[in-house]
Parts: sequence; structure tokens; C-alpha cells
Amino acid sequence: MTLTIPFDNSYVRLPNSFYARQAPVPVRAPKLITFNTDLARLLRISPGDVEEMAQTFAGNAVPEGAQPLAQLYSGHQFGTYNPQLGDGRAVLLGETVGTDGIRRDIQLKGSGQTPFSRQGDGRAWLGPVLREYVMSEAMHALGSPTTRALAAVETGEIVLREGPMPGAVLTRVAQSHLRVGTFQVFAARGQMENLRQLTEYAIQRHYPDVEGPMGLLRAVRDAQARLIAQWMSVGFIHGVMNTDNSSIAGETIDYGPCAFMDSYHPNTVYSSIDRMGRYAYSNQPEIAVWNLAQLATALIQQFEDKDAAVEEATEIVHAMPDLMQEHWLERFRAKIGLVRAEEGDLEMISDLLIRMAQNQADFTNTFRALGSDRARDQFADPAAYDGWAKGWQARLTREDAPSEVMAGANPAFIPRNHRVEQMIQAAVQGDYAPFQRLNDVLMRPYEDQPEAADLMRPPAENEVVQATFCG
Ligand code: AMP
Ligand code: MG
Ligand code: MG
Repeated sequence: MTLTIPFDNSYVRLPNSFYARQAPVPVRAPKLITFNTDLARLLRISPGDVEEMAQTFAGNAVPEGAQPLAQLYSGHQFGTYNPQLGDGRAVLLGETVGTDGIRRDIQLKGSGQTPFSRQGDGRAWLGPVLREYVMSEAMHALGSPTTRALAAVETGEIVLREGPMPGAVLTRVAQSHLRVGTFQVFAARGQMENLRQLTEYAIQRHYPDVEGPMGLLRAVRDAQARLIAQWMSVGFIHGVMNTDNSSIAGETIDYGPCAFMDSYHPNTVYSSIDRMGRYAYSNQPEIAVWNLAQLATALIQQFEDKDAAVEEATEIVHAMPDLMQEHWLERFRAKIGLVRAEEGDLEMISDLLIRMAQNQADFTNTFRALGSDRARDQFADPAAYDGWAKGWQARLTREDAPSEVMAGANPAFIPRNHRVEQMIQAAVQGDYAPFQRLNDVLMRPYEDQPEAADLMRPPAENEVVQATFCG
């Protein structure tokens, strides 16, 4: 068997100021951890033997048709503009057009230094690689647009973080790696021709039906509004919503210190670097608007008549909160079994969430069990649940099939932090069984899987993960 990837590259044909040609830097002893055969099929990749795949996905062998490059971008990190970021530890091998007709990037992450590495070593360690693998594939199974994971390899090298850690490389797949920051870098440098070409490229690749920069802005707004509502509905906290981590395609990208909430509280923050709580759970919609405003600011630069452009862009950005609220309401209605829209639904959902927060109720398990005693048991004071459920039961009489609706909107399984951490600790010791099991169970998050009941359990006191890291 020979690994074949039917590359069809477009980014490399853009002007060379968009990127730096950069081959992955070989590693000492590549070892394949896992290869995602379902995703490979979608990408029209035919797998090779294990050794060949280890060599390729570690970056030691550049596959035929690949034209590796590191992309240029900038971005606002925690609200402060950084004029040059770029792929500091990743290379784009190229693109394939999948069986679904969609073009996707194939990128190695942790593949060594590039011209954009700044002080970084260009590498990743095993923990964050497995974390991104599990989280992104889980997000996909939950039905949310996301980058995906094609392969993970160990490098046989040591990476220095808090201590010496085993190195690894993730093969990441995305509808593209275009970010808000890709637009910002050209706008900030006054490179209007690049900005125009990038706008044209993004439209053709992601939103071929829209017209012009304002059409693109509207399309990104709609995609991001849907995405953020989805995050909220599964208790996801991205953790680093910098503009360089905000995807033009509307996918979740850059699984660093992200986390799914256990017990519900709107102010929840896990990321160790988010000291001010800028990217707390309930701030995410507001940040998404802020990020869209940065995209608008960049796009506007290419207009002759700035005043008219500012006016139109402002209108587009200002419509985003209501849009997000609509998506949010639809999703949370489904979570409590409602399909019909009625006056008072928003208040009913908010009332439940307030009671959950006051009673440290587990977000996932409460919604999954609504209507049963198991939901009631999530509340420190079960009477708080009863007080809500009475009105809710009355409301349900006007719905046709609330149980089915809820079963499809409330996952039983999410990648809980403590399970992800335990999985990483086992992998560092060479035991990949917890990784495989976690990944397998998370592929069917809406199915009851009695044999995996332990993966539904919130953390015991000594298992609670206090902070997550970038790696
Ligand atoms: P992030 O916060 O993950 O979005 O990363 C921000 C920037 O830091 C990007 O330009 C990354 O490529 C770069 N970066 C992160 N980790 C490393 C590393 N270990 N070596 C080089 N660059 C890195
Ligand atoms: Mg990033
Ligand atoms: Mg990152």
C-alpha cells in the first residue's frame, strides 16, 4: 500500500507575500499513534503502511504533490494587536477536494520552526496534540463545524515545556486556515492589492454566492453567529478567541486551552492565560462581535468611499448580537424539548440556567436527563429543579415529541477535562487505550452507551482540572 494524497493546491498560487515556502523539519523517530480512516476517505486519501504514514505525518517525508508553506497572518491577542504572527509551528502541505466537493487544507502542526516562529521552538508536545485530536473530532461528532484531525504521530524527540515532554505532530484538516488575522495583516500594512486578492479568494473558496467585501462580511457573520450559539449549547469555552483564531469559514479552530464545562456557571474560565476572564463562557458572543468588527475594519480599507463602507459594515456588525440570540434561542429551546416558539420561552430557559448556576448543576448531565430524577439530582437543592420543572411540564403539553427533540440536542458524552487529562497522562506512559476509548465513545455522543457510564460522570473533587494550558 502506498499513501496517496490527491493534492490540488490553491493557496500556493496566491502571491508569495501571503506565505513563506517552508518544508517541515524532520524528527528523530516518528511513530504513528493514530490515523483517521473515515476522514481520509472523505479527503480521497488512500492510506499507506504504518511506517510510511509515520514518516509523512511527522514531516520526514514530503508526499508527492505537497507544496509546504507557512501562512502569514497577524491578529489581536487578548485585545492587543500583534502585527505579525503567522504559522510559527505549522506548515500547510496543500489541499484536497473531498468526495463532498469541499476543498480542505492538510496542515502539520508541531512540524518545526518557520520564518514566523519568533521565540518558539516550532514544536508541540503529546498532550495538546491528543487533546486537539479528541476535542476536534468530538466537536465534529456533536454536529459543529470544526477543524478535524487526520493523524497524530510521536516524534521520538523531547520538547521542553514545564518539563521535558514527548514531542508529537498533529495533522489538522480545515476548510481553510483563513482567519480574521489574515485580512488584518494586509490591511494594517496598507497592502490593498493583497487585501483585494485575499477577499476574492475567500469568497470563491467559502461563499461563492456572495458579492464583494460586504457580502463576505455578512457571510462570515452568519457562520460565526451559528458557531458561537453551538458552542454555548454544548457548554464549550474556546479559551483563546483571538482574531488569529477566528476562522473565516466559521469553523472552531485552534484547540488550545479550550474546555467543556462541567458544573454550569456563566463566568467559567479554564484557560491559564486568560487571567481577566476575557474569554469566559458567557463573554463569547460579545467577543465574536468584537472579532467581526476587526474583520470589518480590515475589509473597509479597500473601499474608495470609506464613509459609505463604514456605514454598511457597521450595520452588518450591529446585527450580529440579535442573530446569535436567535440561534441561541433555537438551540436552547431544543435542549428543553421545544420546537414551537412561544412568548416566555427565553425566560423559561434563563430561569433554568440561573437555578443551575446557583446549584452547581452539571451542564451536560442536567440537560441530558431533563424530566427524570437524574436531572433533579444534579441540583444542590433539588427543590430548585422542581420549582422550574412544574412550569416546564405544562409548556411541554403543547409540543409533539419533546423527548426526541431533547435526545438530539443534548449529548450524553462530552470530552470532560479530567478524562482528557487522565488520557494524556496514560499516553505519556505509553498507554494509548484511554485515548482510543475516549475517542470511540465521543464519536457517538448522542447515544446512550451504558458501558461508558464512567465517562459521563463529572470529576470527583480530586479530579477537577483547575486550568488548561496552550502547550
Ligand atoms: P495561538 O495562541 O495558539 O493562536 O498561537 C499564536 C502564535 O504563536 C501563532 O503564530 C503560533 O504559530 C505561534 N506559536 C505557538 N506556539 C509556538 C511554538 N511552540 N513555536 C513557534 N510558534 C508558536
Ligand atoms: Mg492560533
Ligand atoms: Mg494554539
